[in-house]
Amino acid sequence: MQHFTIAIDGPAGAGKSTIAKAVAARLNFIYVDTGAMYRAMALYFVREGFTSFNDESALQSICAQAQITIRYEEGTQQVILNGENVSSLIRTEEVGKQASIISSYLPVRQKLVELQQQLAREANVIMDGRDIGTCVLPKAQAKIYLTASAKVRACRRFQELKAKGQECSLEEIQKEIEDRDYRDMHREHSPLTQAEDAVLVDTSAMTIAQVIDRIIQIAGEKGLHEDNLWK
Ligand code: C5P
Repeated sequence: MQHFTIAIDGPAGAGKSTIAKAVAARLNFIYVDTGAMYRAMALYFVREGFTSFNDESALQSICAQAQITIRYEEGTQQVILNGENVSSLIRTEEVGKQASIISSYLPVRQKLVELQQQLAREANVIMDGRDIGTCVLPKAQAKIYLTASAKVRACRRFQELKAKGQECSLEEIQKEIEDRDYRDMHREHSPLTQAEDAVLVDTSAMTIAQVIDRIIQIAGEKGLHEDNLWK
């Protein structure tokens, strides 16, 4: 029996979670959204008014206070922060920005990477984030670097927010995406970068269905056989 892991990394708005969720449903894998964990941690920092980023022991201690766990409800990942389900509260642009700031600190990363590795030991997973193929699951059988131009990513985010009835400006969204890319790619610890053995998939001119098929095709090329999976 085979234990299979698929790692998907890429910049904000590349469509990682939409694609990973759909691939997980097709393959009957567990989908692990690691960005949601950084978002939950960011929410805790904001609620606590934490600003002592240069104080290593204060950072260690606030990380220890934030108990983040994952639960699945009807196949959908729920993020629990100290007993509270914060899954819907973490989906704002502001929390995304805060997550990108706090994720540059080592104690935050160490804590969440441990939780992510634990989840991958328990099931066949497709996990998305920024450092999955390079750091969290360096032995993942299939690694994909999913990207799209900043302009396409900003347009997608803009449409999403508009559909939810939220006021927004396309220029501002593109600027925020570019700032976030810069922070994620230039931080000292586990910066966003394509793993050497990752397959690049540029989704700028692809439909969601095409991207899903491509990921499943890559997993097949990397040895995934559905009738030989660890169940
Ligand atoms: O993917 P999402 O937008 O939810 O991630 C929010 C932020 O969390 C990212 O901009 C990134 O800074 C951070 N993150 C990370 N490593 C991961 C997943 C997310 O640093 N594996």
